[in-house]
Amino acid sequence: AKRLPGTSVHYAQEHTPNGMGALLTAEQALRAGLKNEEFTLLYQPKVDARDHRLVGFEALVRWDRPGQGRISPLDFIPAAERTGLIVPLGALILTQACRQIAQWRADGGAVVPVAVNVSPLQLLDAGFPTAVMRTLAEFDVPPALLTLEITESAAVTHMAQARDQIGQLRQQGVEVALDDFGTGFSSLNMLRGLPLSTVKIDRSLIDPMPAPDAAAVVKSICDLAGVLSLEVVAEGVETTEHAAAALAAGCNVLQGYYFAKPLDVPAASDWLQGRR
Ligand code: C2E
Ligand code: CA
Ligand code: CA
Ligand code: CA
Repeated sequence: AKRLPGTSVHYAQEHTPNGMGALLTAEQALRAGLKNEEFTLLYQPKVDARDHRLVGFEALVRWDRPGQGRISPLDFIPAAERTGLIVPLGALILTQACRQIAQWRADGGAVVPVAVNVSPLQLLDAGFPTAVMRTLAEFDVPPALLTLEITESAAVTHMAQARDQIGQLRQQGVEVALDDFGTGFSSLNMLRGLPLSTVKIDRSLIDPMPAPDAAAVVKSICDLAGVLSLEVVAEGVETTEHAAAALAAGCNVLQGYYFAKPLDVPAASDWLQGRR
């Protein structure tokens, strides 16, 4: 396979004429990364829309590749999905998140639920709900402290299977959020058809606020979510105007750079202790 020094996995895979060889290279690099424990989680705060107090974290993975620095998930999650390695990587991410929740519990201070992103391939794996419950039990973490964020693509193509898997997890007390709502294949029908706890409005809908048309779209999503008893999280809140408009539209929870970037564990722990 052709070497492309200094380029990301994503680039190597998408832009070389030698696509198959590049995918193999990506697979080898990901396998090595898994073996050498090169993946870390950052934790981005989510706050109550009204008083801006911490109500949760979203775990976001990073890949620290020796000699290449820190790599964005946008540059390796697609390759992990195409090679199937998202399944062991996703399991590792879930384990790391549960270990961290257990650590925060052991520290004895405040603890908030942590949301973990789940790829379609993981969610649709028949053993997934059992694996999640096993991991929670391994670290003695109450299911209410875990939220799973799923994307619509999984649900669109395999609605019945997604409904069943999500239902199993909800029954055990795990919360499930529909991520990136308002992009791609999103449909309002899916909100009704899946046993969700939360909907996360994509930042492309939050960004143009407080423009009246954008605010009206967000408000109508919040109204519908209210009817369906779903909590609403606004993603990509970058300004005080976004925060105010999202609250006025009916969002319950806010997340974005205006409050905090994804944080390393010490900084996230400071947030938990109210020191930020
Ligand atoms: P996502 O799940 O929609 O995560 C939100 C992304 O938006 C994160 O990017 C976050 O850092 C970024 N973000 C947060 N606040 C703001 C803001 O105010 N403005 C802007 N412009 N961006 C903001 P990140 O960490 O690069 O992750 C990108 C995507 O990679 C995620 O999108 C998710 O789809 C995927 N991803 C991240 N971690 C994992 C993981 O552990 N497992 C899986 N399967 N996918 C992951
Ligand atoms: Ca997410
Ligand atoms: Ca999202
Ligand atoms: Ca996304």
